[in-house]
Amino acid sequence: MSHEDFPTDDPAVVTCGLPYANGDLHVGHLRTYVGGDVYARALERLGQQTAFVSGSDMHGTPVAVNAEQEGVSPENFALEWHERYAETFPKFNVDFDNYGHTHDETNTELTRDLVRDLDERGHVYEKEIMVAYDPVDDQYLPDRYVEGTCPYCGAHARGDECDEGCQRHLEPGEIEDPVSTITGNPAEYRERTHKFFAVSEFADYLSDFLDRLEGTSNARNQPREWIEQGLQDWCITRDMDWGIDYPDADGEETDLVLYVWVDAPIEYVSSTKQYADRAGADVFDWEAAWRDDADHDGGQIVHVIGRDIIQHHTIFWPAMLHATDHVEPRAVMASGFVTLGGKGFSTSRDRAVWADEYLEEGFHPDLLRYYLATNGGFQQDVDFSWERFRERVNTELVGTIGNFLYRSLLFAHRNYDGTPEGVETASEEVTAAIDEAVADVTDAVNDYSVRDLGDAVTDLAGFGNEYIQRNEPWALVDDDPDAAAQVIYDCVQIAKAIAVLFEPIAPDTCERLWNQLGEDGSVHDVTVDAATEPPAGAFEEPGELFEKIPEERVEELNEKLEERVAEASDADTADAVEDADTTDAEDDGTADKSGESAASDLEPLAEERIGFEEFEDLDLRVGRIVSAEGIEGADKLARLEVDLGVETRQIVAGIKQLHDLESLPETRVIVLANLERAELFGVESNGMVLAAGEEADLLTTHGDAEPGTQVK
Ligand SMILES: [Zn+2]
Repeated sequence: MSHEDFPTDDPAVVTCGLPYANGDLHVGHLRTYVGGDVYARALERLGQQTAFVSGSDMHGTPVAVNAEQEGVSPENFALEWHERYAETFPKFNVDFDNYGHTHDETNTELTRDLVRDLDERGHVYEKEIMVAYDPVDDQYLPDRYVEGTCPYCGAHARGDECDEGCQRHLEPGEIEDPVSTITGNPAEYRERTHKFFAVSEFADYLSDFLDRLEGTSNARNQPREWIEQGLQDWCITRDMDWGIDYPDADGEETDLVLYVWVDAPIEYVSSTKQYADRAGADVFDWEAAWRDDADHDGGQIVHVIGRDIIQHHTIFWPAMLHATDHVEPRAVMASGFVTLGGKGFSTSRDRAVWADEYLEEGFHPDLLRYYLATNGGFQQDVDFSWERFRERVNTELVGTIGNFLYRSLLFAHRNYDGTPEGVETASEEVTAAIDEAVADVTDAVNDYSVRDLGDAVTDLAGFGNEYIQRNEPWALVDDDPDAAAQVIYDCVQIAKAIAVLFEPIAPDTCERLWNQLGEDGSVHDVTVDAATEPPAGAFEEPGELFEKIPEERVEELNEKLEERVAEASDADTADAVEDADTTDAEDDGTADKSGESAASDLEPLAEERIGFEEFEDLDLRVGRIVSAEGIEGADKLARLEVDLGVETRQIVAGIKQLHDLESLPETRVIVLANLERAELFGVESNGMVLAAGEEADLLTTHGDAEPGTQVK
């Protein structure tokens, strides 16, 4: 890696992947935005000049398809979501220097300039290709307008991306057995002339670029494989109205618009420009950050994205930048997915913890920020659970950080009205501990690890607790007042350091702490140097910064969630893998809702093999339904008594509306007998009845195996 460590003298830009303006944000989405915000704030704490930007992705077929289904114009549809996002991010203290959108004038102009430049430099050519067309509706079907089968892995694929299978980007014409997502009509392929960006010419450059690229390792490894397999040129135009018109260099008009993935990343540049235009070039020089030409050296660009859009950020985008004298990204941080109870969030099935919902529950945004930033490495997939959330809040935020701050600052206030006077400086031991924390924070930034940023502070607070306990200032106050004053001065110094170093993760709480310490100005404006500067002086009686979450709260939240999860997923008891609907990726709303036919909902076969021993862990038995009745108050749940030979089990199944319950007794079923017990709507479920698909088609036996017979 050839990059100079942060902080550098260059301007830096931290970007977050653009959310598609077509649906509500959930906790899974927030992981990337919180991660980006934490990282940008940490860079600023190091004294690195930084712009933090993003914007809404207004174009593309997910937006157009959803708008069409709602009967509104794509522009109005997308603008409404854009405004929602622009309001939601600040509620979580995700504090962009600029949050624009891809349809605004700045981005339209910069996009047309850049594409014209690509064209004039000879990187764009025309080619006849086959595109999907709905002959009944007389409409071309780009991207999300069409679904079918992935030619690479056979998975059901939507439009331009095999998002349920091999995750490949799909070029127009590649999808097999195409069907219109709007009308359900079988599509045919027609020949059209489109524009192509010659990405394949950049294969060598991109290989070298990946060697230099910093960030998370997944952002390097995946694209290396794609390059080895051979890069295909990239179709950058579409047959549709919604989007940015293709800018022809010679003034000749086309009726094509640019593919959404052309103008989306350019919004990173446009958003930076809007920030610079507003703040002034002396505050931030957007061209110095983005251009790498005779007049500019380029800045430090860090892209924070979800791992499903790695290809766009490590192949297409750097090739576009490199071809047009822009600086290449320094780092790509690609976050793993967030699952819920081990399965993907699903917008269409309402299986999610929504951003608004979290706030309505009355939790402070800093708690979620801490949890998202530190629960697992950034590129790891992590599971969201309220229990784990409570545990982290109670143990680390309340138990370690909050406890240290409260006990030491209360003691300081009661005995000294704040920072003890007459102490010149913090002790050597404490200064060394703070220096170490600052070094850990610096390393965390250069390692692109938001988790390490959090750990650096919990470690420092842990040291503080141990320090005050070991030195017992309460015992020294009378006998050795100087020593007691030194210990408490040290503790106030640690508290000040925590305010500075924890600001990226818990900005609001740290500002309160900063004010509590009687410090001037805002903690958002200081650098890590402030961590070792002498504390201010007098301060008021401190309050508790974090509150414990009682166990009952978690039970209550889990019940709410379980109710929804049960309602949403009981239809698929046989449980195919849920669609992993991710951070800033295209949402699954449309295709799921319109894809009523069973074939269009088929999941790819699992790639990962298991050993026979793992199969043997499943205790599968033949059962005989003894009785079946609906559970009162639950729309979909039924309570079954199932005879398993050795005993009769009570099992809850999501089949209430899908089967005539009276006809079920005596039916043979297959039961997973050693599944963990669960409680659904207050009824214990002791096992699982296997069923296939959305209709919960019950699995039964071909012959007449006795109840209790093992299935193997
Ligand atoms: Zn595929």
